[in-house]
This record gives sequence, structure tokens and C-alpha cells, in this order.
Amino acid sequence: MKTLEYDVLVVGGGIAGGEAALNLANIGYKVLIVEKELSIGGKMILLSKVFPTLDCAACITTPKVSEIQRHPNITVFTGAEPRKITKKGEHDFEAVVFQKPRYVDVAACTGCQLCEEACPVSVTDEYQFGLIGRKAAFIPFSIASPRAAAIDIDNCILCGACERACPPDCIDFTQTEEEFLVKIKSVVVATGFQLFDPLKIPRYGYGQYKNVITSMQMERELAPTRPFNTILRPGDGKMPDNIAYVLCTGSRDKSVGNPICSQVCCMYSIKQAQLLMGALPMADITIYYLHIRAFGKGFNEFYAQAQEMGVEFIKGKVGKISEKENGNLILRYEDIEAGVVKEAEHDMVVLSVGILPNRGIDEVFDNEKLKLDPFHFVDQSDILASPAKTSIDGVFVAGTATGPMDIPDSILSGGSASAETTSYLRRRN
Ligand SMILES: Cc1cc2nc3c(=O)[nH]c(=O)nc-3n(C[C@H](O)[C@H](O)[C@H](O)COP(=O)(O)OP(=O)(O)OC[C@H]3O[C@@H](n4cnc5c(N)ncnc54)[C@H](O)[C@@H]3O)c2cc1C
Ligand code: SF4
Ligand code: SF4
Repeated sequence: MKTLEYDVLVVGGGIAGGEAALNLANIGYKVLIVEKELSIGGKMILLSKVFPTLDCAACITTPKVSEIQRHPNITVFTGAEPRKITKKGEHDFEAVVFQKPRYVDVAACTGCQLCEEACPVSVTDEYQFGLIGRKAAFIPFSIASPRAAAIDIDNCILCGACERACPPDCIDFTQTEEEFLVKIKSVVVATGFQLFDPLKIPRYGYGQYKNVITSMQMERELAPTRPFNTILRPGDGKMPDNIAYVLCTGSRDKSVGNPICSQVCCMYSIKQAQLLMGALPMADITIYYLHIRAFGKGFNEFYAQAQEMGVEFIKGKVGKISEKENGNLILRYEDIEAGVVKEAEHDMVVLSVGILPNRGIDEVFDNEKLKLDPFHFVDQSDILASPAKTSIDGVFVAGTATGPMDIPDSILSGGSASAETTSYLRRRN
């Protein structure tokens, strides 16, 4: 096993981990970012625009990720995860990190995509959240960082077409999993969140009715790196003209095991509604909500702006969604203000899915316990005075690994984690 030495290990290369890493690297610390996906940038790099300013998400993320990749004090491992982290003493941690083979020499790959063209195997594209397919030889998405191909070995038929098509000859099927022993002085956990799986609410018909999609799928439809050139409903490729949003899908709902508010769904749905009104000027957009939580700077004004633009807000609890023969959807809901059950027809439904913790990071810590909160996010042991502190001295937490939050708060949290890490590292002298 190769031994490597850094000052700080950052687990997770989303916006929070990236911010923490950049701050630490800028003051001279050597940082290793370990990211399990094939690109850094987390969820943010896949978003359309951001509330409440409607700035382009990719335009904010891409300069940051390229700064991270080019920084002399930062090393990035993608397709990698820590298997074990052991605290040996004060300012002394050891991590066993494994990196999956990509079967492509990243440094030599030019991103020309000729391997993609040559590959005969098509599978579902996870970076487009299942809206389209991709090849077994693929570039994760056009603004991925690194922008290099990877081979999906589980679906590869080993035909060799990609190898023959590759001009710099950088496809290498002999690569194997690598394990590294990493010595560090401190750790930042920035493992982010996962999305609620709407299959857990079968009465909403996700997975059964093609025109019921998730908010993340709609983000992809609206993003500059979108799968189609316009907004389409997946069932038949028709441009929708009457779209419904169902807020709190999998949030504030004890029956699915998640009683807490996801904090961003109201605002990202209002954002998407405004973007859809631009993309489909004739479309009607209706948002079914329980309460609108517009608590941040500029949020209430953003909500009011959506109302002025004509987005319809109905205080209603959606009980069931059913499908008509033409693919349209009937929403049966309780109109909370009128106190009656009603039905409405829409041609596309977006489920505003909630934010859940990425499970398992606590199990990586070997000899000391990384405490979780009651909802399985990383516990902040001193939330008021030192919000990045965890139950392990020298291990800090950033971003949505601590609980749902938006991008500005994730960046602030990454900043706070880097400041507390610095103060911990300086305690040594
Ligand atoms: C549909 C939708 C729309 C949104 N729109 C907006 C918006 O308009 N404005 C806004 O402010 N916010 C928005 N958000 C919220 C925003 O996405 C989050 O605030 C932000 O992405 C959080 O960043 P993060 O770095 O904490 O987490 P993430 O983006 O989840 O990044 C965490 C990273 O850690 C990696 N990771 C996880 N576990 C491990 C491990 N064990 N080892 C290695 N790597 C690991 C993950 O692969 C990921 O890359 C939206 C969210 C959703 C779902
Ligand atoms: S070897 Fe695998 S990845 Fe390469 S072209 Fe054939 S199926 Fe695709
Ligand atoms: S692996 Fe080869 S063919 Fe594929 S993108 Fe990289 S350089 Fe191009």
C-alpha cells in the first residue's frame, strides 16, 4: 500500500468540501480531497440556476472546481472513498483510502469522446438522473472535473471498440483498485446529502407514471448541460403546458421516516417555476404546498415575484396521483383552506424531493465515535460556538453533512470548517 502525507483530508468534493479545501490550501496546508463520484462539484455542478438571484449554477461552480484542480496544494482523488480513519493521537490521523479503477489514464485523456461514439453499449445516465442514456465508455457530463472518460466495467462487454477509437491510447483495462495509507493531521467531513427516493411513496406514482419526475430531474432539464434542448415530459416527448409541483415529498413526513424540513425544496421549486415560465411562456405552473418556507435573504421577495409572474400556489396536501390514458395526471388533494378534497389535471408532475443524510461515514471512523444527530446527519458538538466541531477532536464537518442547507450556507459552513481546522492545526505550535 502506497503511503501519502497531507495536512488535511477532506471527504467529499461538493461545494462545501471544495470551499474548505481551497481556504486551507490558500494558507499553505496540503489538502487531499477524496470524492466518490467521477467528478468534483457535488450536486451544485448539476443544477440549473440558483435561488434567489437566478445566477447560473455552473458559472459559479466551474471556476471553483478548476481552481481546486489546479491548486498546487490540493490533490484530488475521484472515484475514491476512505475505508477506515483512525485517530492515532493529537494532530495524527491515518486513513485507508481506496480508489476504483477508471480504466482510463486521466492525464492522457483529451475528452474527445471518440470512445463514447464507438462504444455499442447504452445504459441509463445517472448524471442526467435517468432522463437519457449514456454509453459504457463515457464522460460523466460535459463540465465534469476532471473532464475525462471512464469505463463502466459492470456494463462493458469488453469488445475493445473504445480502445481502438482512442487517439492517445489511454484506455487501460489492466487498472485495478488502489489502496493508499494517508497520514493526515486533521479531517473535514463534507459528505453532503442524498435525495429522498420517491418510490417510497407509491401513491405518487413515481417510477410507474413516466410524467411524474423529481425536482432533480427537472433541474437537469433546465440546466445548460441539459439532456434535451427544451423541456419535455418523458412519457411522450410533448412540451408540457400545465405542470404541478408537490412540495415536501419525503420531508416533514414521519410516515417515511423523515420528520424534518429539507429547507431548500420550497425555494428551489419557486426557482424552477420561474425558470419554466421563461422556457415555456404559455405554461401554467401550480405549486401544492403545506407551508412556504421563504426565510432567507431575498427569499420572500422571490416568492412574491413568482406569485406576480402568475405561478399558482395552492395550500393543499396531495393524497394520490393517478394517470389518464393520454399520460396526463390527476392529483387528488385536500384543499386545506377550503377544507375539501379536490381533483386537478396536470400534464406533468414534479415531486420536490427532500434531502437525506448520506449514510455510513460514521462507520469509517475506527477507534473514536463520530456522533450523529437523531436524523443521522453528523452531530455538531458545539453548534452555537463552533459549528464545525464534531465529537472527535480534529475532525470537522462542513455543508449538508450536518443537515439540509442551501448553497450560500454550505459555502459559509465550508469556510467555518476551514477556520476551525486551521485553529486546531495551529494549536500544535
Ligand atoms: C433539486 C435541488 C435544487 C437545488 N437548488 C438550489 C438552489 O437553487 N440554490 C441553493 O442555494 N441550493 C440549492 N440546492 C441545495 C444545494 O444542492 C446544496 O446546498 C449543496 O449542493 C450542498 O453542498 P454539499 O457540498 O454540502 O453537498 P453535496 O453537493 O451533496 O456534495 C457532497 C459530496 O460528497 C461526496 N461524498 C459523499 N460521501 C462520500 C464518501 N463517503 N467519500 C467520498 N465522497 C463522498 C458526494 O459524492 C458529493 O460529491 C438544491 C438542491 C436540490 C436537491
Ligand atoms: S470495451 Fe466496453 S466500454 Fe469499450 S466500447 Fe466495448 S463495451 Fe464500450
Ligand atoms: S478515453 Fe480516449 S477516446 Fe475517450 S475521451 Fe479520452 S482520449 Fe478520447
